[in-house]
Amino acid sequence: MQTDDPSRTPNNPDVVVIGAGSAGIAAARRLLAAGLSVAVLEARPRIGGRAVTKRLKGHPVDLGAHWLHAGPINPLVRLGRERGEPLRRAPVDGHLFVRGRKGSRADRAALDRAFAMADRAMTQEAKRREDQPAAKVLPPMGPSGRRVIEVHGLVSGRPLDEVSLHDFPSMEYSDNLFITGGLGAYLARLAGNLPVRLGTAVRAIDWSGDGVRVETDAGTLQAKAAIVTAPMAVLQQDAIRFAPALPPGISEAIHGFTQGVYEHVVLHWPGSPFRGADRLASLIGGHREPPGLLTRIDGTPFHFFELDQPAAARLDSRDRDAPARFARAVLAEHFGHRAIRDLSVSLATGWRHDPWSRASWAVVPPGFYAVRDTLKAPVGDRIWFAGEALSRAQWGTAGGAWEEGERAAGEVVTTLTAPR
Ligand SMILES: Cc1cc2nc3c(=O)[nH]c(=O)nc-3n(C[C@H](O)[C@H](O)[C@H](O)COP(=O)(O)OP(=O)(O)OC[C@H]3O[C@@H](n4cnc5c(N)ncnc54)[C@H](O)[C@@H]3O)c2cc1C
Repeated sequence: MQTDDPSRTPNNPDVVVIGAGSAGIAAARRLLAAGLSVAVLEARPRIGGRAVTKRLKGHPVDLGAHWLHAGPINPLVRLGRERGEPLRRAPVDGHLFVRGRKGSRADRAALDRAFAMADRAMTQEAKRREDQPAAKVLPPMGPSGRRVIEVHGLVSGRPLDEVSLHDFPSMEYSDNLFITGGLGAYLARLAGNLPVRLGTAVRAIDWSGDGVRVETDAGTLQAKAAIVTAPMAVLQQDAIRFAPALPPGISEAIHGFTQGVYEHVVLHWPGSPFRGADRLASLIGGHREPPGLLTRIDGTPFHFFELDQPAAARLDSRDRDAPARFARAVLAEHFGHRAIRDLSVSLATGWRHDPWSRASWAVVPPGFYAVRDTLKAPVGDRIWFAGEALSRAQWGTAGGAWEEGERAAGEVVTTLTAPR
């Protein structure tokens, strides 16, 4: 049983895992499987980190991670298949509306061509040129270019002129899946038996002596090693003090990332014009085009209207209802006010303001390509970093975080069980 009862987790474990998100869960499972004792310390009163499923009107809705990207290499897909989890393929055909009317074949072909041109340019130029803003190598892509730039900016977490050209194409993004019941709920199942202390924020890690002393508001734990999975944006705020200070290379790598922003405005819209389940919708030709719209999630009346970083930043200066009004205004512009009569906004997420995430994921700006790999080196053979930010092929994702949690734990096992 996962627990927030401190008596169920050891005070002097072999390894302390900081954070019970995807990376922390993966790390803890791997360590326990190798016979090591573990305490997982989680600041929030729940597990899952940036993956959490909430029930809305009886339907499970993911408020953070939802897609299982890159199916062939995603460890959460592999594990899901082994466990017989209810995985389903993400459809590859999406909706296309031009000024509220179904787009033609020619419209779709133009959009597909523009995406292909952008992908080719970024992949090829990343091999040929020095690192620079990914946006700089984009060719003229015709009228569909704006849409392509917005979509890539959304999935990157920042506009493409703030994203490393060398980092961008390393991401695998094809063969996506979903899991019925939600990705957050799936991670919670995977954490089922772990020794987790909830509501236990780590304030400091002292690695001046043997092993590590991990300080929390509820006392100090002594361990041989620690795996730190707190998000980069949280570490940048010095939420965890390291004594002695981290080596300059590691500290610079942590501070090299920028904050990726991607927020869901969750719509309940039974009468939406979108048919089928789980389709992305492109709405083009308007004054404002939503960069991301995932429709009829698992066939329910729920949809995600996604906010990218520029939109979220604009809305930050306004009142709490601004994201809901914005989503309604954009959809009304495309489909008319009558069409959105039965649309209600259930909630808008605010991961960028959450003290335990401060961003949706970590972004590598131009010139900082090396930071993901730099952080893979252990500190004093006692502290390992893990989490989505370290993954090369699955950055920014729950699958990448899991992969990195397993990697870090594997290295800890090797280090702690090696003959001295
Ligand atoms: C809106 C949104 C949509 C997304 N969509 C997708 C998607 O569709 N597919 C996908 O794969 N990914 C998606 N992502 C990204 C995905 O959620 C993350 O990449 C992944 O969940 C990160 O896992 P992690 O273990 O690295 O970090 P986290 O899940 O953030 O886990 C770190 C944990 O550390 C805890 N913590 C932080 N500081 C401390 C401390 N001092 N002491 C103790 N605990 C601490 C946090 O509370 C957290 O639980 C999305 C993210 C957001 C926000």
